[in-house]
Amino acid sequence: MTSGLAARSTAVYKVAMTIASVNPATGETLRTFEPYDEVEVERRLALADSAFRSYRRTSFDERARLVRAMADVLEADRAAIAETMTLEMGKPIVQARSEVAKCEGVLRYYAEHAPAMLADEPVTTTAAKHGSHIKYQPIGPVLAVMPWNFPLWQVIRFAAPTFMVGNVAILKHASNVPQTALNIEGAARRAGFPEGVFQTLLVGGERVQAILEDDRVAAATLTGSEGAGRSVAAIAGNAIKKTVLELGGADPFIVMPSADIERAIEIGVWARVQNNGQSCIAAKRFIVHEAIADEYQERYAEAMCKLVVGDPLEEATQVGPLATAQGRDEVNEQVVDALAKGAKAICGGAPMGGPGWFVQPTALTGLTPEMRVYRDEVFGPVTSFFRVAGIDEAIALANDTNFGLSSSVWTEDAAEQQRFADELESGMVYINAMTISYYDLPFGGIKRSGYGRELSPTGIREFTNIKTVWHD
Ligand code: NAP
Repeated sequence: MTSGLAARSTAVYKVAMTIASVNPATGETLRTFEPYDEVEVERRLALADSAFRSYRRTSFDERARLVRAMADVLEADRAAIAETMTLEMGKPIVQARSEVAKCEGVLRYYAEHAPAMLADEPVTTTAAKHGSHIKYQPIGPVLAVMPWNFPLWQVIRFAAPTFMVGNVAILKHASNVPQTALNIEGAARRAGFPEGVFQTLLVGGERVQAILEDDRVAAATLTGSEGAGRSVAAIAGNAIKKTVLELGGADPFIVMPSADIERAIEIGVWARVQNNGQSCIAAKRFIVHEAIADEYQERYAEAMCKLVVGDPLEEATQVGPLATAQGRDEVNEQVVDALAKGAKAICGGAPMGGPGWFVQPTALTGLTPEMRVYRDEVFGPVTSFFRVAGIDEAIALANDTNFGLSSSVWTEDAAEQQRFADELESGMVYINAMTISYYDLPFGGIKRSGYGRELSPTGIREFTNIKTVWHD
């Protein structure tokens, strides 16, 4: 067995990340953390390894008891955990509280349903005389490399099934949400999980390679950007370890003439700006049929311009700052590029002054393929409008992207609904609804949005040994 922690580094990383909570609404540094040194990382990997050996033998009843206890801890601490998230990455406080509540829900969902999802499954074969069955068994410590945008939900939707399977979790969270990362580890300990079943490693992304190559780590899940996904998948591929990747998206939101326009506007604005526009499954490309495009765009822009932008700790705030200065600059550059090449802003469009990393909600029309917003993921509250002459063009434009996470389509026409469900190249299609992640539905994408699924019975089996048992 090798520890693999000698000085190796990922090629893409030139400098070590600073691990710090910085309030995006003010730019003030709240806390900084020393990254764990190699001795501490080694200690924690050894702990994960030994914790797995005993935790894998616990019963479903015991795991479910602990998972429910963790839901109770989150519920009791909901206000404080939510405030820390808002202070670290700027999401409006109301949305932060909902995120904690959703995490409580997914823990309870898996505590209740996982035993049935993982029960031995009889299989009738034509070959074995006495039939066969499939077992779903734990595989070991799983490394989770996670992003800051839903800093609790991304982690808990991975952790809940992990706990029920009997695997143990090693979290490498984004370097700008260390307090939330530590809150999750603290919640697991308070719930009564044995030491080592859930651990946070305070390390930058440049340390992922050595950790993932360590023989004690069985697999990895990454939610984040395409670049991070490519890097982690390459490392894991070389070490022959399974990965699940949840990457970026440029999801279409298609509105056809028969749609309920009122709802498609109200929900369309929300689908774009929730989480300050920083969601992988945000509606990013609005593809509207030309018969209703003028009315839709005008009323959408009016609704978008009324949004309350401001301090994310205020109850009334609907759009807070972007999480990082770099993210704010990137979105501003994408908008400037589009406007310089002839796009028109029908809402917003101008940079906002400081303090904090705010971006005005913005809606752009007149987009062409030369503009960055035409193809890039825009990770902020910016709507791109496209108009099409019919369903063929809508589907072709929707599929003209390297991403394939989800799609939202708005039409009352059953034949159109069927065609969208059949022909859109994405892991999910939501009809007359915005994309959401939900406990009992598989969540994940195709193309460069990643592979594998989270949530649902499908997600819980991703990191299991699907063992065939033959009876002759
Ligand atoms: P990111 O920069 O890729 O970071 C995500 C995580 O990966 C962080 O923990 C980061 O660590 C780590 N990381 C970055 N580069 C790495 C590398 N080369 N090797 C190993 N680890 C690396 O992404 P982000 O900016 O935080 O998140 C935004 C992206 O995530 C968007 O593209 C969004 O669409 C996507 N996302 C997808 C989903 C989904 O379910 N499909 C959900 C949410 C977000 P450091 O912080 O230390 O760099």
